Amino acid sequence: MKSFQTKTIVSGLGALLLTVFAVQTPATAQDTPAIKIGTGGSTGVYFVVGNAICRMMRLSARRGQSQRVNCAAPPSGGSIENLSLLQSRDVDVGVVQSDWQFHAFNGSSIFDGKPFPELRALFSVHVEPFHIVARKGSGIEQWDDLWGKRVNVGNIGSGQRATFEELIREHGKTMEGFSAFSELSSSEQAGALCANEIDAFGFTVGVPNASIAQATDGCEGTIIDLDTPVIRTLVDGAPYYQWTTIPDGTYFTTEKDVRTLGVLATVVSHADVDDDIIYALVKSVHKNMPMFTTLHPAFATLNSKNMTQDGLSVPLHPGAERAYKELGLLE
Ligand code: GLU
Repeated sequence: MKSFQTKTIVSGLGALLLTVFAVQTPATAQDTPAIKIGTGGSTGVYFVVGNAICRMMRLSARRGQSQRVNCAAPPSGGSIENLSLLQSRDVDVGVVQSDWQFHAFNGSSIFDGKPFPELRALFSVHVEPFHIVARKGSGIEQWDDLWGKRVNVGNIGSGQRATFEELIREHGKTMEGFSAFSELSSSEQAGALCANEIDAFGFTVGVPNASIAQATDGCEGTIIDLDTPVIRTLVDGAPYYQWTTIPDGTYFTTEKDVRTLGVLATVVSHADVDDDIIYALVKSVHKNMPMFTTLHPAFATLNSKNMTQDGLSVPLHPGAERAYKELGLLE
């Protein structure tokens, strides 16, 4: 009898605990799906893109517009590294330049023989002019002046490094044409320019950008015009390049509009990433565009229509397609 009572009490307590547990755990940390976004250096705009997406996902889940997904967007080496992290499934989503999105999918340029057919598009973001910033007193005023100078071509894994090398090849040269080249990251290059350790650096980045400001406002470096015959041929012949203008007054030393080639920053994924997660990401951003566009000045002119049409040369991810159909952005 005694033991029966004890058992009843114990099982009653168990049932109570189970009930409490069930009520309190609709979404524990373990149950919540998670995504990781590959971005760029901590002073670049890709880092802002990734973290703005995470913020929209939190906001959207709180507003009941989409499921909750834990989102992280740590710094990375940039476009090329993000593509390789996507391929190895070490990130779920990545920010990449439109030129490298194209080449990775098609197995062209540096992806020759190594295509990435599972690459899928979510949307494009801001325009990224390719900047060459020259040190004050370096004597560099145009592309051809770079030969014989100390040039930072960017870290391996960055989009600017790959694009810079493409431009060098297009001019029929190699990096041997520079007196020295360095592989500093986007967060190190402006400091090196101002310390007279390099004469110029290349950076594909949205406008405005803190590291370009450090080199221009900080030590009067200038952004050089790249409207040359070779680059004109390149832009005319490729769907992933466009002409861009860095307007007069953007930085202290921008005393006139500077014309240069540009790409679009794009947000991409792998075909195997869960449709529901991509659907939640895409919906979160597009449902909250008025806020998204305030998170960086380079996002100010973005709208959902252009973001789903421009700069995308690979198939849409099925989760993105579902979101766009539901949002009326796709037939
Ligand atoms: N476009 C650069 C890259 O692909 C990154 C620019 C940024 O960090 O905003 O690596």
